[in-house]
Amino acid sequence: MRDLNEYRIATSPEEAVAMLKAGPGKGRYIAGGTDLYLGPPDCDFVVDINQAGLGGIASTNQGDVLIGAATPLQDCVNSKVLQKFAGGEVCKVAGQCGNRPVRTTATIGGNICNALPSADMVPVLMALDAVCFIVDEESQESISLNEFFLGPRKTVLDKRLLAGLALPQDVASWVCETYKLTRSAEDIALVQIAVSMAVEDGALAQVRIALGSVAPVPMRCQLAEEQLVGLKLAEITQDLVEIVSVIAAGECKPIDDHRASAEYRVDMVRVLTKRLICRVLAGHGMDSCKYNDPTDGDNGGAA
Ligand SMILES: Cc1cc2nc3c(=O)[nH]c(=O)nc-3n(C[C@H](O)[C@H](O)[C@H](O)COP(=O)(O)OP(=O)(O)OC[C@H]3O[C@@H](n4cnc5c(N)ncnc54)[C@H](O)[C@@H]3O)c2cc1C
Repeated sequence: MRDLNEYRIATSPEEAVAMLKAGPGKGRYIAGGTDLYLGPPDCDFVVDINQAGLGGIASTNQGDVLIGAATPLQDCVNSKVLQKFAGGEVCKVAGQCGNRPVRTTATIGGNICNALPSADMVPVLMALDAVCFIVDEESQESISLNEFFLGPRKTVLDKRLLAGLALPQDVASWVCETYKLTRSAEDIALVQIAVSMAVEDGALAQVRIALGSVAPVPMRCQLAEEQLVGLKLAEITQDLVEIVSVIAAGECKPIDDHRASAEYRVDMVRVLTKRLICRVLAGHGMDSCKYNDPTDGDNGGAA
C-alpha cells in the first residue's frame, strides 16, 4: 500500500497527459473515482480529468455522436441524443450500471479504462462500432473499441488519455438489443450481451454480437456473426439461429468464479444469443424466429 502524495487537476486533455508523465512515481487518472477509490491507492499521485473539457454528449453535423470520456453514466441515461441512437440501448445499459448515486459520479470513460471483463458499457458500445479518441501530449489517435483491450485491467493507453468516443452516424438506424444477466440489480454481470444488425435490400448487411464477463476482455463473436452476414431475412430459420448461438457460445472463454461456473456462463451465452438475435430480427419486422422468450419485456436490473 502507498500513500497518495498529490492530487493534480488538469484543465485540458494534453495537460492531463503531461501531468501524468511528469512523475515522480506512479500516477493515475481519476474521473468519478468509483473504481479507483475502492481499495487503497496503488499510485503515488492522481490526475483529475473532470475539468479537462471531456464531459458531454453531442451530435456532429454529419450525425456522429460524440461522448466525452468524463461524462457521468447518469448523463448517458438522460441524453436525448443517445436515446435516439440505435433505439436508445446505450441509455438502457448505462441505467443498469450500479445504482443512481454511483451513476451520478461514475463516468463512461472510467468504465472502459478500468478494463474489467465485466464493465457494463463495453459490449453495447462494441456492438455499435464505437471509436475511441486517445490523446497524448502532442498527438491524437482514433482506434476501434474492439482493439482497445489487451487483457484484464490492460489497455493500449499506457500513459495516454481516453478523451472520448464516437458512435458513427450510419449505425444510428441499426436495431440493437442488450441483456445483463446478473444475480441482483447492483451486482456485476455474469454475462453481458449486445446484438445489433443492419438490413439492406432484405438482407443482413451488418451483424455484431458482443459479450462481456465471459473472456479476459470484452469480445466480439466474429465466427457467429459471419454465419449471418449476407443472408436474406427470409432464409433465416430458428434452426440457423440455434446453430449461430452454439457457435457464439464456443467462442467465449469464461472462468469459474464465486458468481457462476464457466459451464453455466457458456450455456447462458448460447441462450441469450438466441434470444437477442430473435429480438433484433423481430425489430426488423421478421417474426419467423419468434419463440416463447421468458425474458420478453425484462430489461435486466436497474437500481
Ligand atoms: C457500488 C458500486 C457499484 C458498481 N456497479 C457497477 C456495475 O453494475 N457495472 C459496472 O460496469 N461497473 C460498476 N461499478 C464500477 C464503476 O462504478 C464503473 O466502472 C465506473 O464507470 C468507473 O468510472 P469512474 O469514472 O468512477 O472511474 P475511475 O474510478 O475514476 O477510474 C477507473 C480507472 O480508469 C482510469 N481512467 C478513468 N478515466 C480515464 C480516461 N479518460 N483515460 C484513461 N484512464 C482513465 C483510472 O485511472 C482508473 O484506473 C460499480 C462501482 C461501485 C462502487
